[in-house]
Amino acid sequence: MASQEPVNPSHAVFDLFIQAQSCKDVKHHFVELCSELDINPKDFRTFYTKLKERLNYWKAKALWTKLDKRASHEDYQQGKVCSKNKCLVLGAGPCGLRTAIELTLLGAQVVVVEKREDFSRNNVLHLWPFTIYDLRGLGAKKFYGKFCSGSLDHISIRQLQLILLKVSLLLGVEVHTGVEYQGLIEPSGENGWMAKLQPRSHPAAAFQFDVFISAGGGRFVPDGFKHKELRGKLAIGITANFINGNTAAEAQVAEISGVARIYNQKFFQELLTETGIDLENIVYYKDDTHYFVMTAKKKSLLKKGVIKQDYADAEQLLAPANVDHEALCRYARDAAFFSTGGKLSDLEFAQNHAGEPDVAVFDFTCMHRAENASLVRERRGQKLLMGLVGDCLVEPFWPLGTGIARGFLAAFDAAWMVRRWGKGVPHLKVLAERESIYQLLSQTTPDNTSKNYAQCSIDPKTRYQSVNLSSIQAHQVQHLYDVDKSY
Ligand code: FAD
Repeated sequence: MASQEPVNPSHAVFDLFIQAQSCKDVKHHFVELCSELDINPKDFRTFYTKLKERLNYWKAKALWTKLDKRASHEDYQQGKVCSKNKCLVLGAGPCGLRTAIELTLLGAQVVVVEKREDFSRNNVLHLWPFTIYDLRGLGAKKFYGKFCSGSLDHISIRQLQLILLKVSLLLGVEVHTGVEYQGLIEPSGENGWMAKLQPRSHPAAAFQFDVFISAGGGRFVPDGFKHKELRGKLAIGITANFINGNTAAEAQVAEISGVARIYNQKFFQELLTETGIDLENIVYYKDDTHYFVMTAKKKSLLKKGVIKQDYADAEQLLAPANVDHEALCRYARDAAFFSTGGKLSDLEFAQNHAGEPDVAVFDFTCMHRAENASLVRERRGQKLLMGLVGDCLVEPFWPLGTGIARGFLAAFDAAWMVRRWGKGVPHLKVLAERESIYQLLSQTTPDNTSKNYAQCSIDPKTRYQSVNLSSIQAHQVQHLYDVDKSY
């Protein structure tokens, strides 16, 4: 009889943690792992070191090698540069988590609060080469074997969140799900800056911090920040996810990385003639699902009965009551079928978080962008550095696939700002530098950012081809410093 190898329970739990496919499972197996190894995750300063010492497992070692390489970068000064800082991060979307990882590497105590309990977005994000390189460096492939294999350059939002959640936890970030941020509480008595959270009695409500990073997603504007509206011509986006059965036939179907209308008029004309569907563009990625994102013309949506009644106002036009869901499903399915040459013959919708066909319509007519990326507030002599990252800084137009790359650039820029703060640089200088860098963000492309990916770090000079950290001067950001002068 073949002898069974004795299984070390902590190794088995580690495997479960690595493979976990939902936020709840990740957290559950993480707690189990900590208990198996008798490590308190609240001891953030020693957590990762103890984990490495106590989990003597070859699979874990390959991951430690990657994380150690990252952590040894000179920017972090061995985790000492921000060892006195405490950071609250709002939102466990990809940008909140990516920022949290950098802040913990800088040595700060980092707490993330996320109002949702689970990660459910099937939609797929396009990754620029530097983001792929960055995520590989964090061990993405260990958590998700299919990560960007071959020429793939995309990942579903939920997979990306799972990877980043696992890395965050391993490095000592505290992540609380099911906790909603409702505002800041100003210092009083013995207490410093705190957050009003729901549930109110949640332990994270007692956390006092000197850095607040908001990564609350599109249109989330924390108190003190202003958004600019960039109103363009009417742009109606549709996303659809179909089940990927991973068959050989499905594997043969070519992806569409962005068929812009001006480049492929013939395709769009044929689509219109044969189906009555009129699109500006369409993107198809084969990922955990078959994912499509397209921009559709209003006239064809009205004609096909997707939009019931015409309104000049985009919000009214796309209000749920004015959209026929079944017609929308047909529209998206037909567009997907036609654009893949009929090769995806069995297009069955994947389910969304509500257990319904994963198809949705979005309004991109009016995009938002924050006027500033940073602020400093001072109350009762206690300063709070505030920064925005991700979609709440600049809302992306999804078909262009710029969102997550610019989101990560901003996450690194925010981490650099916190590094400067941690080093004691005067607050107006910190703000002026951050705003100088922010000016570059919306113009970034894979071509005008550094291609020396191995050198890319949170230092803006390693990522932007030409960056002038003093293009905005301290005296120009006085308005971003909000102090209670009477105190
Ligand atoms: P998000 O990923 O939106 O994360 C923000 C997080 O903050 C969320 O988890 C949210 O629950 C949490 N949060 C918000 N308010 C609070 C609060 N008060 N308290 C606690 N937590 C809070 N991009 C594409 O390129 N293609 C797509 O097809 C696409 N589809 C999308 C579909 C949906 C439904 C959404 C919301 C976004 C989509 N995006 C898409 C955008 C993409 O998800 C983001 O660009 C990317 O995830 C990075 O965003 P982020 O981390 O800044 O914000």
